[in-house]
Amino acid sequence: MNAGLAVSSCASPPELKIVQERGQREVFCGLTGIVWLHRKIQDAFFLVVGSRTCAHLIQSAAGVMIFAEPRFATAIIDERDLAGLADMNEELDRVVTRLIERRPDIKLLFLVGSCPSEVIKLDLSRAAQRLSQVMLPRVRVLSYSGSGIETTFTQGEDACLAALVPQSPRAGADQPASLLVVGALADAVEDQFRRLFAQMGIERVDFLPARHAADMPAIGPNTRFLLAQPFLADTARALEALGAQHLPALFPLGAEGTTGWLKAAADAFGITSERFEAAVAIPRARAEKSLERRREQLSGKSIFFFPDSQLEAPMARFLSRELGMTILEIGVPYLHRRHLADELAALPQDVLIVEGQDVDLQLDRCRKAAPDLTVCGLGLANPLEAEGFTTKWSIELVFTPVQGYEQASDLAELFARPLVRRQLLEV
Ligand code: SF4
Repeated sequence: MNAGLAVSSCASPPELKIVQERGQREVFCGLTGIVWLHRKIQDAFFLVVGSRTCAHLIQSAAGVMIFAEPRFATAIIDERDLAGLADMNEELDRVVTRLIERRPDIKLLFLVGSCPSEVIKLDLSRAAQRLSQVMLPRVRVLSYSGSGIETTFTQGEDACLAALVPQSPRAGADQPASLLVVGALADAVEDQFRRLFAQMGIERVDFLPARHAADMPAIGPNTRFLLAQPFLADTARALEALGAQHLPALFPLGAEGTTGWLKAAADAFGITSERFEAAVAIPRARAEKSLERRREQLSGKSIFFFPDSQLEAPMARFLSRELGMTILEIGVPYLHRRHLADELAALPQDVLIVEGQDVDLQLDRCRKAAPDLTVCGLGLANPLEAEGFTTKWSIELVFTPVQGYEQASDLAELFARPLVRRQLLEV
C-alpha cells in the first residue's frame, strides 16, 4: 500500500475498497460555480470579495460578456485593506450601493467570500444582513464562501444553494406533498424533467435554484427532494433542517441512472409501475439506442479519474455499466456515503476508490495503470497530454448539460471525443 493511503470502512456496500489520501491537491476553488450559477438565476448578481487572482479566475473561466450587462464582478481587496488600514465594510457598502443603483434588474445579490476575505476575517454574512435590511424588498443580499481553502470547485454551488434554503418560503405541514429537484440544471434539461414528472402524475414539482429570485420554492415537512448533483451535502442538510425528506437514488446520468432517479420520485409519490413505464418507456429506449454507437467506441477502454468534480462515482457507474469501460481508479475529493449509497452499490466491486488526494502518488498510480482516458482538472491535463495520455477535463462534465435521457449520448460523447481525436492524430 502507498504511504499516503489509509483504508477506511464504508458502511454500504461493505465490499468496496475505499481509501483516503491526504497530500497536495490539484483542484479549482468554489468561485468557479459562478460561471454556471449566474446563467441559471437570471436576476442574480455575484459579487466576489477577493483579490486580482480571483478576478482573473472568474474572468477567464466565464469569458467576457460583451453584449449583456455582466452579472458577476470582483470587489478587489488591495494591499491596503489586507494591512487593515481601510474599513472594508464601509467600502463594501459603497460598492454594493453603487451597483444596485445602477442595476435595477438585480433582485438577488450574493457576496461571495474568497481566500483573501477569509484570511482577513471579513464577515460577509453580517455584511449581507446589514445590506439586506437596507435594500429589501427590492434586493435580497446573501453570502456564501467560494474560497479555495479546503474546498473543491463544485462546493461553490453547494454553498450558494445552502445559503438560499433558509431564505425560501415555508410550506406548512398541511400543504400537499411536493417534489423538489435540487441542483442547477440547464433550462432545457429542467423542462424535460418537468414534462416527465407531469406524465408520471407528479403535479407539484419545483427546482432549486429557481430561474428568478422571486420564484424560489416553498419548503416544509411535505417536501420530498431529489438531488440532481452529488455534491450538495450542505444544501441537503439545510433542507432536512426544515423537515424536507431526501429521496435516495442513482443520479440522473445515462439511461439507467435517469430511470432510477425518476423511479425514486415515482415510488415516493405512489405512482403505479404501469404509469411510470408509460411515461419513461419511449425516452428510455431512445437513450439506450443512442448509447449503442458510443458503446462501440468506448467498450473495453480503461479510464482513471483524478478527484475534481465530485461527479466521479456516478460517471464511473455510467461508463462501466452502460458503456463497458474498465474503471481503474475513482479519485473523489469527498465521498458523501449516504447520498452516493446507490451509486457505490452499482460500481464494480473491485474498483479502487480514493477519497482526497496526494497528487504525486496518484500521478504515479496513473502512469503505472496507463489508462486509455484520464479525467482530471485543467492543471493536470496539459502535463499528462504532454506525457502521451489522453485526457478529459472534468470541469466540462459540470458545464455541459448531461443529465436525463436526451443527454445520455452527449454525456458518452464527452468521453469518446478525446479518444477519437487521439486516434486521428495517430493515423
Ligand atoms: S478564492 Fe482563493 S483559490 Fe479561488 S481564485 Fe481567489 S485566491 Fe485563488
